[in-house]
Amino acid sequence: MANRKTLPWWLDGGTESCDLCEQPHALQSQRRCAACDRASCEHCVTVDPDTGEILCHECAGEAGEDKG
Ligand SMILES: [Zn+2]
Ligand SMILES: [Zn+2]
Repeated sequence: MANRKTLPWWLDGGTESCDLCEQPHALQSQRRCAACDRASCEHCVTVDPDTGEILCHECAGEAGEDKG
């Protein structure tokens, strides 16, 4: 079984907590939603390929259904 104490660097010592998945993460890997200004981890945001805008999954979901 995996040892829960062995965390990758982006989780280890994370001082920030994601507003969406509530996972701790390092500040360097934090993303902020352009629509709701919510701080979340990089796993909970989507970067629009056209505008480069960062949206959390909730805001991205409202904007349009994402395939996949
Ligand atoms: Zn998250
Ligand atoms: Zn958002």
